[in-house]
This record gives sequence, C-alpha cells and structure tokens, in this order.
Amino acid sequence: MPGFELFGDLERKEVNDVLDSGVLMRYGFDGMRNGHWKAKELEKELENTFKANHVQLVSSGTAAISVALAAAGVGAGDEVILPTFTFVASFEAVMMLGATPVLVDIDDTLTLSPNAVEAAVTSKTKAVMVVHMCGSMGDMHALQSICDKHNLILLEDACQAIGGTYNGKALGSIGDLGCFSFDFVKTITCGEGGAVITNNENYYLHSDHYSDHGHDHVGNDRGAESHPFLGYNFRISELHAAVGLGQLKRLPEIIAVQKKNFTIIREALSLIPEVTFRTVPEGGEESYGFLNFFLPNLETARKVSEAFKENGVDACFHYYDNNWHYVRKWEHLKELKSLYPISDEVKNGIAYLKGAEFAESNYYIGRNISSLIKLSWTEEEVKARASKMVQIIQNILK
Ligand SMILES: *Cc1c(COP(=O)(O)O)cnc(C)c1O
Repeated sequence: MPGFELFGDLERKEVNDVLDSGVLMRYGFDGMRNGHWKAKELEKELENTFKANHVQLVSSGTAAISVALAAAGVGAGDEVILPTFTFVASFEAVMMLGATPVLVDIDDTLTLSPNAVEAAVTSKTKAVMVVHMCGSMGDMHALQSICDKHNLILLEDACQAIGGTYNGKALGSIGDLGCFSFDFVKTITCGEGGAVITNNENYYLHSDHYSDHGHDHVGNDRGAESHPFLGYNFRISELHAAVGLGQLKRLPEIIAVQKKNFTIIREALSLIPEVTFRTVPEGGEESYGFLNFFLPNLETARKVSEAFKENGVDACFHYYDNNWHYVRKWEHLKELKSLYPISDEVKNGIAYLKGAEFAESNYYIGRNISSLIKLSWTEEEVKARASKMVQIIQNILK
C-alpha cells in the first residue's frame, strides 16, 4: 500500500515549485506565489480522479473525519455508529465533537455488519461511519438502505481503501461524505494530509470554512473575510499538497502493482483448503493494498503470525492482539482516560463498552491475518514470500 515506496522526481518537482516562491500556505499571498496553488490544484485533481463534485484538503485523515462529521452537523447528544475493527481515529473524531461513539460488530467483510448497525440504531443516532479496512469495503447497498430508512448520514472512512471501487464508483465518493488519509503509510502520501470528499455543496462549504477558522473565503483579503460560524484550523500546507500532486499521478501504477502482487499471494494461499478469504461485497473491487485471509481458529492464527515474524515474513498483522485497530485493547477508551472532563452524556453513552463481548468481531478478527502488499517487491520476491507463507501455514496445520 505505501506510496512512499514510489517517491522521486515527480514529487520533488512539485515541492520545488513551492520552495521557489516560498509561499508555504494554501490561502492568500496571491502576488508572491508565481501562480502556484498546489492545494487547490490537488483538490481539482482528486475531484477528477474520484468523480466527486467537491474535495476539501485538510491536515490529516483524522482531521478529515472530524471535519466531515462537523460539516454534517454531528455533535453533542448525537450517536455515531462505527465498527469494532478500525483505527482509533474513528472514535477520536466523534468524541472531539462531543458526540458518542457506538461500536458494533463487523462481519466477514471485516467492515460494519449491516445487521449489527440496524440493531444499534436509536432515536439519538445521527450517522453511520463505515470504515473500508485493509483495501476492501462494507456492503454499501445494505448500509445505504439502513441510512435511508432511518434518515442517517452515511460517512465513508476510505483512508485504507483509496483506489477501491463499488459498482464502478470510487470508495469514499458513495456516501454523503467520504474521507481519505495521506499520512506516510497510506496508498498515496503527502507526508501528512487528508481529504473530505462529497457531492453535497453545503457539506463542502461547511468543510471549507470549518477547516480554516470559519473563513468564508470570499474575496482576496483574508483579514476582511467574514466568519459565518465557528471553525478550527485543520489546514494542509502547500508543501504537503505539492507532494500529493506528484503521488496522485502514480495512483494507477500503484493499484496495478498491488493487484499483481496480491494475486500471486492469493493464488498460492488458495491451494490450502483451510484458508479462506474475506468477503468482498458484490459489485466491489478491492484496492489490493492488503491481502486478508482467515485461518480455522484463534490459536492457529496466533501461531502463524508468530511463525511469520520468526521467519522473516514481514508486514503481516494479527489485529486481535493489536493496540490500535481493534476494540479489545482500547482500555483508554473503555475507562475514559481523558486529559479533560468528558460530558456525562458521553460517559453514560459508552458505559456499554466495559462489558461488551463482540463475539462476532472476535470470531473474524481472531482468525484473520492481514498482509500488507508492498510496491517495492520484485516478482521473484513476491513468489518466494508466497511459498514461504504456504509452507509455514501448512506446517502449523499439520
Ligand atoms: C490512517 C487512518 C486514519 C487516520 O488518518 P491520519 O492521516 O493518520 O490521521 C483514519 N482511519 C483509518 C481507517 C486509517 O487507516
């Protein structure tokens, strides 16, 4: 997945344009910038690439989720449904706005279980956040139907699935709002950065203003602009946006290399009858950034994960034992270890987490191993890796 593996002259040229003028900020300084508007240009390129009406760049993927939720009016008193398997950013963003995260089970897609979502809807639910983990997606048809039925906002966290599609549409462009991350380990990187994408003009204008202290961006005198509502600073810099312009040009190549490497490993592992793969919803095509497969049970998955590490099969994750991506190890959330006071509403709202079992999620995450798909591997290296993985798994299954 990591775009940083392909980095060079394309990115350097764009960054040098910014260094030549010295205008490192995305807004203002019109006279000094030699016509370079890297953030604006990247927004246009992202709109074209992902066929979305509007893109707002921000400083990170976490910022993108926070801005998207704020743009859709999510705040105190609201509940947001999200999956047990995600990155901590999902609940961080919800809680920053004073809303309550409601964690629910995943299914064999490794993303939100539509049944679990339906069961969790209350009169306080405002939004559903589907997180397209490890290059593949949720059942967008089922999730959209639930959201339509209950009049909920559907937000897509596509931070790990850039380049994946559902019924021909780019992941991130399907729900009311979508979010991308361009941090250093994502499919394309800006160093740090993120984007909100939407076809809703209102949500876009809210994102544009909110991410820059409420500036309405009318006219060309920043000091004279008005502030229709409160905002914050989630701006991206011109330097970061410039890197992204170079990286976005590489996206087709990145996806093609991922698909090739993914396919070699998947075909090798499919020869083991006990190994199964995550379900990709009908109409979906993965970004091929990760290969996710299931072993028969938790013990086997743990043994395989250990043996991979001991034998130099790197970049494989057993998320069941991971601190950052799975609910099991989020004591800081369950015990609300916050630096500042949390409202009683949120405290009460997440009390359910302490005793929660999430048996369905454990069943899938406990047996799952996720192999990152790298861009720098040669074909020989991928084949060697695949046969090593097969050997190790067969040995443990014996
Ligand atoms: C990386 C990531 C984020 C956060 O993005 P940052 O740019 O690192 O803030 C959010 N959600 C998911 C699923 C991610 O993988």
